Amino acid sequence: MTERAIFTEESKHISHNTAFALTNKLCLITGGGSGIGFDIAKCMIFSGAKVVITGRREEPLQVAVAELGENAHYIVNDVTDLPSLDGLVNEIESNYGPIDILVNNAGVNMKRPALEVSDEDFNRIIQTNLSAVFALTRACATRMLARKSGSIIMISSMAAYYGIDRVVAYAASKSGVEGMVKVLASEFSPQNVRINAIAPGFIETSMMKTAMGSDPDRMNRALNRTPIGKFGKPSDIGWAAVFLASEAARYITGVSLPVDGGNSIGF
Ligand code: NDP
Repeated sequence: MTERAIFTEESKHISHNTAFALTNKLCLITGGGSGIGFDIAKCMIFSGAKVVITGRREEPLQVAVAELGENAHYIVNDVTDLPSLDGLVNEIESNYGPIDILVNNAGVNMKRPALEVSDEDFNRIIQTNLSAVFALTRACATRMLARKSGSIIMISSMAAYYGIDRVVAYAASKSGVEGMVKVLASEFSPQNVRINAIAPGFIETSMMKTAMGSDPDRMNRALNRTPIGKFGKPSDIGWAAVFLASEAARYITGVSLPVDGGNSIGF
């Protein structure tokens, strides 16, 4: 039986070629010059999208854009500069067109026992991982809701799922993101704007290396609590982001998708 025969109604709108395609969609990825954000950009471009990536440091962004080719652009922006974010969205939409997909990827972590965390450190992490995520989401969603179209993806963490010691501010920020996703999914759904989170497990980036240090015992403990038995690659998160942004996920909103090699199953 052909695909057309199976999906008579569906095939008017969607086929196996288009279900996961992001042809000509514009995707804004914060912190896209390195790590997970860079591979999200690669996967989005592979799927037909154009991307704008941001970060604080110009050089990694330049290098990333050179590697990503003509469908990538970069803008230096610090997401903690909250008043700049509406202007950032305006600038992107004026130069490149409507933002169809927002990926709130930029994030910072700090491993320290809770009682040694200063107000300044706590606020810095909350500002990057939570306040900026809200401010940029609001700026993009205002425009997406008016157009009745858009997909927003938050990058959460296992730290929002279970207790990990010495990451109190990080866990609070990612738990806040998880709560935000549910509220905003409820508010945005009538205007056809979906919002979901991806919760990565252990993904091989500089953030993971910093968190693990060079302690082989810690590496082994992390692997032992990951049923698939290996660390994830940044592109594992990239493909999940493509799926959530695509037409194939059109009935999915308000969820947190673990991409963690089974880490969150429990052990
Ligand atoms: P990296 O440290 O490798 O990359 C973080 C990126 O965010 C960098 O490109 C950095 O660029 C950017 N960034 C940081 N602060 C800001 C800021 N204020 N404004 C703009 N950009 C900023 O980390 P990962 O790729 O590992 O992390 C990406 C996301 O995935 C984060 O949200 C993290 O919490 C999450 N995550 C990662 C996991 C892992 O195992 N790696 C596990 C769970 C979640 P620049 O310094 O130039 O600004």
